[in-house]
Amino acid sequence: MLVDLHNHTSRCNHAEGKISEYIEKAIECGTKYFGFSDHAPMDFDPAYRMSFEQMKEYEKDVLNAKESYKNKINILLGYEVDYLKGHMDERVLNADVDYLIGSVHFIDDWGFDNPEFIGRYESQNIDEIWQKYFDAIEDMANSKLFDIVGHIDLIKVFKYMPTKDINQIAKKALEAIKNTDMVIELNVAGYRKPVKESYPSASILKQAYDLNIPITFGSDAHKPEQVGLYNDEIINLAKATGYTKCATFSNRKREMINF
Ligand SMILES: [Zn+2]
Ligand SMILES: [Zn+2]
Repeated sequence: MLVDLHNHTSRCNHAEGKISEYIEKAIECGTKYFGFSDHAPMDFDPAYRMSFEQMKEYEKDVLNAKESYKNKINILLGYEVDYLKGHMDERVLNADVDYLIGSVHFIDDWGFDNPEFIGRYESQNIDEIWQKYFDAIEDMANSKLFDIVGHIDLIKVFKYMPTKDINQIAKKALEAIKNTDMVIELNVAGYRKPVKESYPSASILKQAYDLNIPITFGSDAHKPEQVGLYNDEIINLAKATGYTKCATFSNRKREMINF
């Protein structure tokens, strides 16, 4: 991936490896813009993220790496922020970063992508779960707090698929993303999960393309060896859909480049 904006660090407590190891792998893959977007602190689910006290160290580490690698690669600083009402914090939302990824990992208090709580897919109406998820994505877009929509159809992670048409379920969310001028990411983490496909699926990506919604790319690496994995699959999907440009960010300003 020429641009790879979704990558974690060991500070979130569920990723491993040094910042320099992620960067070395990205350079090896020919990446030109490599962004760290570790899980931002939150007063909910604190075990899976850095603390508020760690923000400064995290930002400093990434900025130091940006300086030391500046002749080889552009290192960008961001956060992946949970869109969860009542739990978004100004210290994160106003952080001095290149971009913020907004992600929905919770429906109310249910961490639906955590295998520990997978049982709840069986005890609720699957169409309602999907609609609730995409309603949250729509609300997130309308909040205008973020630059990039993280893994837009994450709700498919364990392959509990709805009976209704997915494009119809996602329609209002995509329209909100278009209206608020957000970017969606092509995220390869889905290839590593039971669903075994990218976020988004080819059909949601086509729907986004028809609305002229810009894209970017993300490894969503939680280990250095995950950087750049499934590069060919994801680039081919973007090209086959019709995309030729992708977004990168600097100080929360978007720039489009050919990939
Ligand atoms: Zn993570
Ligand atoms: Zn995520």
